[in-house]
Amino acid sequence: MLKTFNIRTKSHTDFIDITDLINQAISESRVDSGICTIYVPHTTAGVFINENADPDVVYDVKNHLEKLVPWMNNYKHMEGNAAAHIKSILTGNSINIIIENGRLLLGTWQAVFFAEFDGPRNRKVYIKILRG
Ligand code: ZN
Repeated sequence: MLKTFNIRTKSHTDFIDITDLINQAISESRVDSGICTIYVPHTTAGVFINENADPDVVYDVKNHLEKLVPWMNNYKHMEGNAAAHIKSILTGNSINIIIENGRLLLGTWQAVFFAEFDGPRNRKVYIKILRG
């Protein structure tokens, strides 16, 4: 089963917890055990797993990525968003997560985040659910 989510990001850098959306899609698919691939088809956005319990974690990750890859840094890319391309590479564009008991098999503190690095924009996230 392939499912497409349309996501509207709200700021230039925006991390959106999409865990519940994915679990809902898995529930609708009636797949009890399998694999879920989460794929972001953009060059200036990404997807990652990390903590959603303390919002300061997300804040610190945003701040540190900004220090690692500053927006202005004499890049050659004419569009002016080279930093967003680099951050997309750092986070990656897809992850695979085991499905068990009809849900993502995540750790207690783990959540799946869509990462916007050049927003606000309308974005897509694809998920593919495989039984197995
Ligand atoms: Zn660009």
